[in-house]
Amino acid sequence: MHDCIFCTIAAGKAPASIVYQDNACIAFLDIQPVNLGHLLVIPNAHATYLADLDEATGGHLFRVAQRLANSLRRSGLPCEGVNLFLADGEAAMQEVLHVHLHVFPRFAGDGFGLRFGPNYLNKPERAVLDSAADQIRRALDAAPTKP
Ligand SMILES: [Zn+2]
Repeated sequence: MHDCIFCTIAAGKAPASIVYQDNACIAFLDIQPVNLGHLLVIPNAHATYLADLDEATGGHLFRVAQRLANSLRRSGLPCEGVNLFLADGEAAMQEVLHVHLHVFPRFAGDGFGLRFGPNYLNKPERAVLDSAADQIRRALDAAPTKP
């Protein structure tokens, strides 16, 4: 058994404020929330990165997240909007190496934001976009999918 806090939570062996669980996933409150009500939706079975997760479970995580976003808006917690955020890889700010989809309430003045890099305002030429699209398309055709 590997040492993964999210696997431990999914197995019911670590404390968590659970909102939802089914055969494929569990949703619980983040202990370091952007705003109160910040949820993490994770697969019950360990998958480190998105590429390790079968597409059906990935789709299921999003379906549950969509339902939870609706719940946040109706919950009575401060919530004027909702962000869904998934960090895939350490460079993308993934801190726990078990796939997790963040679902968190937002409201005006909550102080959360995204910081863009220095090149953000330099829009690439169409040829550069087309070339990148071609690279991604070719990788998509060759991408292994987990059925
Ligand atoms: Zn795990």
